[in-house]
Amino acid sequence: MTTTMNQLLDSVRVPPGKKIDLRNDYDPGSVGQFMSKQDAQDALSAGIQLLAQQQDKLYAQNTYALLVILQAMDAAGKDSTIKHVMSGVNPQGVQVTSFKVPSIEELDHDYLWRCSAVLPKRGNIGIFNRSYYEEVLVPRVHPEYLERQQLPPVLNDRDIWDRRFREINNFERYLFDNGIVVLKLFLNISKEEQKRRFIGRVDEPDKNWKFSAADIRERACWDQYMDAYEEMFNHTSTPYAPWYIIPADHKWFTRLAVISAIYETLDRLHLAYPKVTKEQKEALLVAKAEMEKENGDAAGEKKKAGKRRGKNT
Ligand code: ATP
Ligand code: MG
Repeated sequence: MTTTMNQLLDSVRVPPGKKIDLRNDYDPGSVGQFMSKQDAQDALSAGIQLLAQQQDKLYAQNTYALLVILQAMDAAGKDSTIKHVMSGVNPQGVQVTSFKVPSIEELDHDYLWRCSAVLPKRGNIGIFNRSYYEEVLVPRVHPEYLERQQLPPVLNDRDIWDRRFREINNFERYLFDNGIVVLKLFLNISKEEQKRRFIGRVDEPDKNWKFSAADIRERACWDQYMDAYEEMFNHTSTPYAPWYIIPADHKWFTRLAVISAIYETLDRLHLAYPKVTKEQKEALLVAKAEMEKENGDAAGEKKKAGKRRGKNT
């Protein structure tokens, strides 16, 4: 990864403990040092290849797991980012889970339940398309969602958000201490670009299915969501699970920044293929010799059979 991408990642990583101003400190239209999509194409292709190599080692080593959390306002490009960024990896080692409005069954459990049930296992990459972070966003903007959660009244008080931030931090610390590395990415789209994409979804028949009236209702609450996101970043960007605020007005740049963040996170793990012991190596050589002998035997058998056939004709 280039030094410039490293610098970009440094500038979009939310410093733990620092209060940030989402609207003024982070530009959704940024494209780093790149002039155009074509300009970034080589870097993206190289990134896809590097990620595939890292995933192979992650899988073979079977020690760490990577959990990538994607959060965003609607139409920020979560789905297409997943599609492009993961295009080179072995599907066997990746699981994507999308979290929607909680079902009746999910509401009967604590809010982390549905997410803990699908955490990636060692050697795997898990992608959460939305996550437990919705729980400090949607119910803050729409308090009726909190009412549906059947919490004991004494726990449904003003302190609930601070408690949830603490619980989430503790949960992620627990994951980190167990080898599950958490990478949190917010795709930061501007309100103008969201409008452009929504209009595109209405105008283009093949995109109509992507649009719903709920999207417009949520858009109307834009400022409340930005406030909730800001609070969330200020409380939950930690040294062991930092938030990255990825510029999302240009999809090609979002993909490059996301792949760089994943690459950088995996790179820090110093992944390597498992080393075999001297005894294991010897056993492998014995197995190889046996297989080669098998070939030799088979060739010998064939020769003999040929000779027999020759005599009989
Ligand atoms: P797209 O960007 O394509 O619209 P999406 O992730 O928004 O994808 P949808 O099916 O449109 O998927 O919407 C899922 C909805 O579920 C979102 O509005 C999200 O805020 C909501 N949601 C997810 N988790 C929760 C939760 N825990 N509580 C309340 N709402 C939630
Ligand atoms: Mg949606």
